[in-house]
Amino acid sequence: MAIRERFHLGALEGVRVGRFQFGINTTFIVYRVGDTLFDAGPPNQWSSVAAFVSERPVRQLLLTHHHEDHSGNAGRIATLTGVTPMAPEPGRAKLARGFATPPLQRLIWGAPSPLATEPLADDLHLEDGSPIQPVFTPGHAPDLTCFHLPQQGWLLSGDLYLSRKLRYLRSDEDLAELMASLRKVLTLPFDTLLCPHRGPVRQGHQALCEKLANLERLCAEAQALARQGRSEKAILKALLGPEDWLGHLSRYNLSKTNLIRQALTVPLP
Ligand SMILES: [Zn+2]
Repeated sequence: MAIRERFHLGALEGVRVGRFQFGINTTFIVYRVGDTLFDAGPPNQWSSVAAFVSERPVRQLLLTHHHEDHSGNAGRIATLTGVTPMAPEPGRAKLARGFATPPLQRLIWGAPSPLATEPLADDLHLEDGSPIQPVFTPGHAPDLTCFHLPQQGWLLSGDLYLSRKLRYLRSDEDLAELMASLRKVLTLPFDTLLCPHRGPVRQGHQALCEKLANLERLCAEAQALARQGRSEKAILKALLGPEDWLGHLSRYNLSKTNLIRQALTVPLP
């Protein structure tokens, strides 16, 4: 499938790829700043990603987490460029042995292959010498790591953002950890979020702040309804509407039910 969109923001470039275009969550943006690549794109989009990667010399490839839409082409980029990808430590063993993904994800992204990585270096920087600071932000995935570029005021957010208003949760996500990670990142100064699904989000600090506030409100409302004796299903219907096709089709791997179930358990301040 062809490249769907290109992004330019100062020294930052990006390319959106994807087999399907059913909204932002079936497409993916590989970002590049000079000779640094951020994430590798989904395995079934190699030809488009290869064309983008081949445009400039690559010195380093940084992965935000192990999910196949982010790591899928890292092995082929390594073969093409001779650069071993760097990945957050908690995901490296899983990447090395490979992992199976559900049928719906395989349809959208393709299947990942085992991947050899190096740990994130201690002194990451862009080619102009400005720092890249990894920020460990688990919750969406146990290894999710954002990259903060303080001089540029950018946050490469992996899958920490996605949307101001979350409506679905994967069955392996930890909502309490995700909210703690949002609070952690909000202590950093940045203006623009670089989300690999949504695209560049200006006023990104504010957008992440709103995401956290929306989740806190959802948890408070769900827990208030539970105290009134409402069932999980009734709470789901009241706050997010009934489970829909995505929940059913993914066999509840990606569903509103997961989000409400965890919203009921998150300790509130
Ligand atoms: Zn992910």
